[in-house]
Amino acid sequence: MESKKRIALVTGGMGGLGEAICIKLAMLGHTVVTTYSPTNTKSQQWLGDMRERGYNFHAFPCDVTEWDSCVACIARVTAEVGPIDVLINNAGVTRDMTFRKMDRINWDAVMHTNLDSCFNMTKQVCEGMLERGWGRIINISSVNGQKGAFGQTNYSAAKAGMHGFSKALSLEVARKGITVNTISPGYIGTKMVMAIPREVLDTKIIPQIPMGRLGKPEEVAGLVAYLASEEAAFVTGANIAINGGQHMQ
Ligand code: NDP
Repeated sequence: MESKKRIALVTGGMGGLGEAICIKLAMLGHTVVTTYSPTNTKSQQWLGDMRERGYNFHAFPCDVTEWDSCVACIARVTAEVGPIDVLINNAGVTRDMTFRKMDRINWDAVMHTNLDSCFNMTKQVCEGMLERGWGRIINISSVNGQKGAFGQTNYSAAKAGMHGFSKALSLEVARKGITVNTISPGYIGTKMVMAIPREVLDTKIIPQIPMGRLGKPEEVAGLVAYLASEEAAFVTGANIAINGGQHMQ
């Protein structure tokens, strides 16, 4: 894969998928910046562990649900590291419950973290990408945004919304060297998924996956790396399924 060095920012880079994405981009020689929640007490530990493994990541606190926090974070990144060429909107949460039990708090938490965050973060980097004539915006959605999921009206709506956002924005910037794409992973073996009771995984989720297994974070990271590359210049407004065939079920 072509290896022009870029500055990439991964929101929620200390989580299961985010970490794999940070590592993959660093292995390709990119400068990698991650954000973490201001309430995250393990960020320094994570950075230390990564340093021991040979990865020198930049990390800044940012609450992706809060506009002012995003403004301040990207201003710091730009001043201390440089302008962002690749933005990966990866931070996300679930608050699963049936619609009848769902209250406004759990609806809002998921919409703010998964969807409003795309607006909050992309607004900070889009103008600079337009000025430089190059950029990659990669939104991490979910197979459940494509097909819906029981107990996830909030998450399915937010994740489907991310792809609507990708498509509309990709049209606006298509002639300016910027691509905007969505990746929709299926069930990947991170702590978000391992929090699902084992019995539910074995009886309800894995049987829906034609490959009969969970995905690996590294598999998603490889796709992110491709979309961030020069070779992916003609891919835009796409929603790429990476789910072991589950989207066909
Ligand atoms: P994790 O829970 O491991 O990581 C989520 C990350 O989001 C954490 O690093 C967390 O940061 C960050 N985050 C949450 N809330 C905020 C906030 N308000 N501000 C800033 N950061 C925040 O989940 P995964 O790695 O599994 O998931 C990553 C993305 O992939 C999510 O968008 C998820 O919806 C999506 N996805 C995951 C799948 C899976 O199977 N794992 C399948 C399909 C999609 P911190 O820890 O610092 O709070």
